Amino acid sequence: MDSLKLSAVEKVEMIKNGKLKAVDNIKGFLEMIEKDNHKGKKINAVLVVNDKAIEEAKRVDEKVKSGKKVGRLAGLGIIVKANICVKNLETSCASLTLKDWKAPYDASVIKRIRDEDGIILGMANMDEFACGGSGETSAFGPTKNPVKLDLIPGGSSSGSTASVAAGFCDLALGSDTGGSIRNPASHCGVVGLKPSYGFVSRYGLIDLSMSLDQIGVLSKSVEDNALLLDVIKGRDVRDPISHTYDSRIKVSRLGKINIGVMKPVSTKPVQDLIDKKIDEFCKKYKLEKKNVDIKYIDLAVQTYYPLVYVELFSGTRKFDGRRFGVKIEEGAGPELLRRILGGSEITREEYHGRYYSKALQVKEIIKKEFERVFREVDCIIIPTCPGLPWKIGESMSVEEVYAYDALTIPANLGEICAITLPAGQVSGVPVGIQVLCGKGQDSKLLSIAKMIEDLK
Ligand code: GLN
Repeated sequence: MDSLKLSAVEKVEMIKNGKLKAVDNIKGFLEMIEKDNHKGKKINAVLVVNDKAIEEAKRVDEKVKSGKKVGRLAGLGIIVKANICVKNLETSCASLTLKDWKAPYDASVIKRIRDEDGIILGMANMDEFACGGSGETSAFGPTKNPVKLDLIPGGSSSGSTASVAAGFCDLALGSDTGGSIRNPASHCGVVGLKPSYGFVSRYGLIDLSMSLDQIGVLSKSVEDNALLLDVIKGRDVRDPISHTYDSRIKVSRLGKINIGVMKPVSTKPVQDLIDKKIDEFCKKYKLEKKNVDIKYIDLAVQTYYPLVYVELFSGTRKFDGRRFGVKIEEGAGPELLRRILGGSEITREEYHGRYYSKALQVKEIIKKEFERVFREVDCIIIPTCPGLPWKIGESMSVEEVYAYDALTIPANLGEICAITLPAGQVSGVPVGIQVLCGKGQDSKLLSIAKMIEDLK
């Protein structure tokens, strides 16, 4: 039996029943990584492998054998974005600034995974300090899109996503500040969830923008996604904004729901594919479609970047070369440096009250707009990205790259949850459909996503 083809949900059951050995599951992934990460297809999704993974898997098998209770993630292989601290593994943020820096502790999400017998396989490549949308700003070289090797996988959770798509792991963790889970998931044909703001603890995440960041899950299916979200979610005293919205994530078939749709927002082939999918969805479940309009959503990109520049500048002052790695201004690549210098400029005394506080005000307005619309509809469905992934190395202006986040940023500004799942392909390239639900409605979001997934 080819265990690589099973879903995470199926595998856990088999591992618990002793029908599949955790060790074999983990070995299978390590072999795949060995074959195609730096060699073979040279996907470059994984920066570091956990050399204790097999030992940890053996402990799970022993537990099973001796009849002890095993956790909900028993023996599953999980890859972690390199900005989430994993004790004794290089948490480099794919930057020369933190090259070789090993985290001295586990992030809360990692602790929760280990408590449920999940196995950390290694650390994933990413855009440097999560700044980017293509995976190309990594100091350790770009990640390839496993579906089409000459294309970008999207970013910034490029390696986590490519790892899922390439069969290097069962599940992966990413972070999403303006789309970094959803954008690559869309381009690599996998499921990517950005939970509501505060749904998952961020203790141990090296932040990009504290007002927007969320840790979330990349997976092959909606149910697999829900499995890991259920483990990592909920209040953590170490992250004051975290909150328990749901005691248990429930993915169920919903009855009558109203679908919000918006005016076309993507290039034609992508938009046409999504429109078709929405119609199919409404027809199959006899659902109503309603046009909605989020006012000021056209200002999302302009609102997002001042927030990110300022909060990144402030959050990285600790990387002054004394306690961690080298001084960030010396270790940073061009995009990270642009944001740090931009952030220091915007926060100058004479600009007080101008850029950052204005952006926070617009964020609040957009948040209220979503609250208003979610009183009328259960979800909004739009494309995940405005177009198709470009070729690795293709020259793109900063404005073009920033504008590419226009459809994912609004969910971060609104603090709501959003998921992308595969909708089909255009010229052999995967295209993701994005579902958005109100803050704290992550179970409902996953349920709607599962209904769309079942259309196949
Ligand atoms: N592409 C966006 C940016 O560069 C999103 C990044 C993210 O979500 N971490 O900021």
